[in-house]
Amino acid sequence: MARIFCIANQKGGVGKTTTCVNLAAGLATLDQRVLLVDLDPQGNATMGSGIDKRELKQSVYQVLVGLATVRQAVQRSEAGKYDVLPSNRELAGAEVELVDVDRRELRLKDALAAVEADYDYILIDCPPSLSLLTLNGLCATHGVIIPMQCEYFALEGLTDLVNTIKRVHANLNPKLAIIGLLRVMFDPRMTLQQQVSDQLAAHFGDKLFNTIIPRNVRLAEAPSYGMPGVVYDAASKGAQAYTAFGREMIERMKAA
Ligand code: ATP
Ligand code: MG
Repeated sequence: MARIFCIANQKGGVGKTTTCVNLAAGLATLDQRVLLVDLDPQGNATMGSGIDKRELKQSVYQVLVGLATVRQAVQRSEAGKYDVLPSNRELAGAEVELVDVDRRELRLKDALAAVEADYDYILIDCPPSLSLLTLNGLCATHGVIIPMQCEYFALEGLTDLVNTIKRVHANLNPKLAIIGLLRVMFDPRMTLQQQVSDQLAAHFGDKLFNTIIPRNVRLAEAPSYGMPGVVYDAASKGAQAYTAFGREMIERMKAA
């Protein structure tokens, strides 16, 4: 059965999608069967996997509103060697359409049940909000991976996310746990980042992943080629860090 994780942080532009796409590709290079679920109407993880969001016949939107199964909507990322349940701006409508629907927070969980046995990992890329879409991600998941930049205000935004996770854990998904915080876009030359990183280590202990993802321009360039950074330039520091992160995830899962 697949381990299901969502990559979440309601703050925008913190590296959720980059983490999701590169972890998917990193795990695929380690021979894991991976499904990436793009739960963001921006469709960045879809595009970054080399799938054109403007040409989708079926997407996660149809799956959530009950017009398609996951198997019908899934596509292959040839570049990344993983499967993608893609998304585009149509998904923004789901938020409204699901308002009066039964089990509306559990639509994704119910849909993924049919394919859980086909994958080792299912990774869900959440939008930058604590919306019904993110709730669907949290309800479908065993654990949350939180990417964060080591900036002064990073911890402030975390409180809302952690409270939401606690609420979902108590009311909707007893399996939900925080797997870990991942330091991303890290620049060791900046003293402040080093200080915040040390604070995170003191505060979160073993909930902080050992791997640190550096700021690396190759990771930022890769999406414009429709490729995960891990594939676009496997030798780059960013790619190597995400591959190491994939290994760390597998080790953690063995230990769990
Ligand atoms: P959103 O909240 O809009 O969904 P996000 O949290 O998914 O954003 P990304 O899209 O992954 O964030 O990253 C934001 C920007 O930072 C992108 O342009 C991405 O290419 C760039 N970026 C992400 N990680 C790195 C890194 N380690 N080094 C350099 N650039 C990075
Ligand atoms: Mg994103």
